[in-house]
Amino acid sequence: MKSDHQQRGFKPQENLISILPSIVAGILLLLITTFTILFYYPTQNPVSTIALMLYGFFGSVYLLFYYLLFTASLNKARFSWVNAVISGIALGGFTVLIPEEIDYLLYIMVFIASMSASLMSTRIPSYFIVISSTLIYFVVHLISHSPDEDWIIHFGLTVSELMAIETIQQLKSIARKQINRLEIINEFSRQIVSTLDTRKIFNLLNGAFQNVIAADSYYIGIVDGDEIHLEVFYDEGEYFQNVRLKRQGTLSNWVITHQQELFLPDLRKNIELEDVDMVIIGKEKTSLSWMGVPMRGLHVDGVMVISSYHANAFDRSDMELLSNIAQRAALALDNTYQHALVEEQTRLDSLTRVYNHSYFIQVLHKQAQSCLAEDQPLSLIMLDIDFFKQYNDTYGHLVGDEVLTSLCSVIRTHIKNTDAVGRWGGEEFAISLPNTNGEQAAHIAERIRETMSLLRLQVNSQKTIPSPTVSQGIAVFPAETEDITKLIDLSDNRLYEAKKRGRDQIEPATTFWETIVSK
Ligand code: GH3
Ligand code: MG
Ligand code: MG
Repeated sequence: MKSDHQQRGFKPQENLISILPSIVAGILLLLITTFTILFYYPTQNPVSTIALMLYGFFGSVYLLFYYLLFTASLNKARFSWVNAVISGIALGGFTVLIPEEIDYLLYIMVFIASMSASLMSTRIPSYFIVISSTLIYFVVHLISHSPDEDWIIHFGLTVSELMAIETIQQLKSIARKQINRLEIINEFSRQIVSTLDTRKIFNLLNGAFQNVIAADSYYIGIVDGDEIHLEVFYDEGEYFQNVRLKRQGTLSNWVITHQQELFLPDLRKNIELEDVDMVIIGKEKTSLSWMGVPMRGLHVDGVMVISSYHANAFDRSDMELLSNIAQRAALALDNTYQHALVEEQTRLDSLTRVYNHSYFIQVLHKQAQSCLAEDQPLSLIMLDIDFFKQYNDTYGHLVGDEVLTSLCSVIRTHIKNTDAVGRWGGEEFAISLPNTNGEQAAHIAERIRETMSLLRLQVNSQKTIPSPTVSQGIAVFPAETEDITKLIDLSDNRLYEAKKRGRDQIEPATTFWETIVSK
C-alpha cells in the first residue's frame, strides 16, 4: 500500500458521526461529575467550588467547540496536538478537584477523551492525553499520600485506555484500507469502461495492481492457442515483455480450464491439482503465495495471477478484489474487441466485403508511406467491369451483384494478404500492391483479366452465362509520381485508355516502362 493512500482517510462528515457519541457522553459526564461533587462533597473552600464550576462550564464549551471545529475540518494534525495538550492537562488538573473516593471518574473521562482523540487523529496525541493526565494524577496523589496496593487498578485502567486507543487505530486502518481499495476500484472501473484501447486497459490494470495489492509478482495472461501470452508481467520491480508460457501443466492453465479461482497461501504445502507441475517464470525464485482468477468474456479468455515470495502474503479479500478486477477487465476487453469489430465493418463495402472507398484511400496512403521509407515501389491497379450496364439489363441486377462478389474473390486469389482491394464506386475497384513494380503488377492484372474472361456464372442453377470482362490501368509509385492523387488519376486515365482501345485488356503504361528500360 502506498503512503499517499494511507493518508487519505475519512471525510469530515464521517468523523463527525463517529465522534458525536463521545462528545455527548463527555459533556454529560463532565456536568454530572461537577454537580455530583458540588452536591455530595460540598467544600468549605470557595476557590475549589468556583474552579469546579469553571471546569464544568468551560469543559462543556470546549467539547462543543471541539466538535464544531471538526465540522469545519480545520488543520487536523496541528489541532489534534493542541487538543491533546489541552485535554491532558485539563484532565490531569481535574484530579485535584475530584474527591479521592470517586477518582475513578477521572479514568472514565480520560477514556472518553482518548477514544475521541483516537477516532479523530493519530496514535501519539491520543497516548499523550492518557499518559499526561495519568502522570499528573499520580504526582498529585503521591504528594497527598503514599501509593497503596490499589495502584494495580490504576495501572490496569491506564493500560485499558491505551488498548482502546490501539484498537480504534487498528480498526481505522482496516476501514481506511478498504475505503481506499474501493476508491481505487471505482476509479479503475470508471477509466476502464471509458477506454477502447487494449494497451490502455492493460496499463490501467497494472496501475490497479501496483496500488492495491502488495505483490512481488503479477501477470495478466491471454490465451493464445496452447500458449498464454503475458500482456503485463511484473516480477520484483521488473517488467518482462513478450513472455509466452506453454499452458500445459501450469497453475494458470488449471484456472483457465476449470474457470475457477485458485488461492494457494503456501506453495510449500502439498498441492494436489490435476495436471499441474510447478513452473518458474521471471526471476529464478519460487513464489510461496499464489492466487489466480479466470478472466473470461465473450471474446477474451485469460487469467490474472498475483504471487509473493512470502507465504500467506494474501487474504481472501485480496482474492475477492482480484476477482472483481478480472471481471471488469474481461468486460472492458470484450467492449474493445466488439468495438474493433464494428469499426472493421464500417470500413468494408457491404456487398463485396472489400474496403470501402474512404478506407481504401487511408490504407493506400499508409502503404505508400512505408514503401517510400523502405525504398520500395507500390503499384496501383484501377479496374472497371466492361459494359456492366448492359450486363445488368440483360441478366438482371441480382446477377450483376453476383458478378461483383465473384470479381472480388478472383482479385483476392491473385493478390497477397498485405495487398489491399477497395471498391472505388459502382463497378470500379482499386488494388494497391506494395513492394510490387509495374511489370509484376501487369502480370497480376493479366491473371485477373484472364480469370474473369474465363469465369462462368450459373443463373437460376441451370443456365451458365459468361462473366463480363474487365479493363485495368496501372500506375507506379513513386517512380511515376510521389503524389497519391496523381497516382490515382494516372491509373484511372490508363483504365480509360484500355476501355478506348477495346476493353478486356490492361494498360500498364508500357511506353513509360519502355523509356525507363531504354535509359
Ligand atoms: P464501361 O465498359 O464503359 O465501363 O460500361 P459500363 O456499362 O460498365 O459503364 P457505366 O458507368 O455506364 O455503367 C456502370 C453500371 O454499373 C451501371 C450500374 O447499373 C452498374 N452498377 C453499379 N453498381 C452496381 C451494383 O452494386 N450492382 C449492380 N448489379 N450493378 C451496379
Ligand atoms: Mg464499367
Ligand atoms: Mg464505371
